[in-house]
Amino acid sequence: MIVDAHCHIWPEGMPEGSLLKLMDNTAEFAGFKNKENFFKASIERLIAEKDAAGIDKTLLVSVDFELAWPSATHSARDLNDLIGDAYKQYPDRIIPYAGIDPRRGVGAIAELKRCVEELGCRGMKLWPLSGFTPDDIEYYPLYEEAARLGINIIVHTGMGPPDSYLRYCRPVYVDKLAVDFREIVFIMAHFGAPWADEALAVAGKNRNVYSDISAWQHTHAVFPMGLYQTISMAKLMHGSVQKVLFGTDFPCFAELYSQKAWVQCIRDLEYPAPLQIMGLPEITDQDKEMILGGNAAAALQLD
Ligand SMILES: [Zn+2]
Repeated sequence: MIVDAHCHIWPEGMPEGSLLKLMDNTAEFAGFKNKENFFKASIERLIAEKDAAGIDKTLLVSVDFELAWPSATHSARDLNDLIGDAYKQYPDRIIPYAGIDPRRGVGAIAELKRCVEELGCRGMKLWPLSGFTPDDIEYYPLYEEAARLGINIIVHTGMGPPDSYLRYCRPVYVDKLAVDFREIVFIMAHFGAPWADEALAVAGKNRNVYSDISAWQHTHAVFPMGLYQTISMAKLMHGSVQKVLFGTDFPCFAELYSQKAWVQCIRDLEYPAPLQIMGLPEITDQDKEMILGGNAAAALQLD
């Protein structure tokens, strides 16, 4: 089974307003030549690409941009409804994750409850790039509700758009949450890059923390040894690659690699000679299959 632990879709007509500026600047920053590839992400396109890539299940993740980058046409609630609809349409393929901004206080708790109980969400996504520290004690009632509902939490870690705030995205902010909420499974999106070493420490220390390799397409395209080294370090530090999950961050890097090509990149990873000399372990074919799906299936109890 192949599992994509990190994907998005956008509604027709989005982005616009302040969100368009954010995404436009992101596309420019990332050097995307065809912005349409990034902006046009319907559920139909997502599923067609999943079919081509042989990806069985997808964590479809909503983001609450609204407090920092409001849209005139789409509220955060609308975006959560969109992934709820996608789940209704493809219940065997889609695992919906609600986008929640913890600064909404009781409103965040109510929206999380609605997303889980009415839309079928199995987790929530925090996007601290919009300006909050995830482990602030003020947000603990939201996490207590998440624990009560039995859901997982994806936390964006690492690099973000030029107009967002990187200071809130250190992987270490997941550590306190992981200790205080042992019953919750946390996924550090994007392996904390460029703070992968910090992500390795947090995932190594906490049995309930995982990292996904979504958004590593750019690094892989220019420096293939970087991804190999990070996964190999995980194997060395954690005793196996079980904490590493595959992800595409579709449609964000669709211009660099199709989903099918990104799956193939993982299967084609070759043990670089310098890492052999450094004594880092080889990533075996079995390790690659675990990363592509076995780890997520076990961590998230997928069948
Ligand atoms: Zn993402």
